[in-house]
Amino acid sequence: MGMLNLVLTNISRKPATRLYPFEIRAPYAEFKGKIVFNPENCILCGICQKKCPPDAIKVTKDEKKWELNVFRCIMCTECVTSCPKDCIIISNERAKTGAKEYIKILVPKVDTPKAAPPK
Ligand code: SF4
Ligand code: SF4
Repeated sequence: MGMLNLVLTNISRKPATRLYPFEIRAPYAEFKGKIVFNPENCILCGICQKKCPPDAIKVTKDEKKWELNVFRCIMCTECVTSCPKDCIIISNERAKTGAKEYIKILVPKVDTPKAAPPK
């Protein structure tokens, strides 16, 4: 009788877990989901590359290219805090399953320092 009561109680209850992947919980605001690079203001200074502990970022000034090895990134946020142009943020959006290892982005323009006026 005890077993029957237990079965009937459980049938009438809501599921204790989400029906993943049909129900996906929205990520927390602080969740470190993925790196987002905005090339608009990037000056290819290479500071993010130098500061990145696992060498996940590669900046090639000649080719105007910014690369991220997604599999190396440990989400430490060093690149976010060190970029002088605020080009990098960490989004709380989850990276897609089966994401590519490398993100390669061409930087449209690079600010060249203006030469000092002759004295
Ligand atoms: S993302 Fe920022 S730190 Fe990295 S090269 Fe561009 S401007 Fe420099
Ligand atoms: S979050 Fe850290 S590990 Fe990831 S790219 Fe930026 S500096 Fe490198």
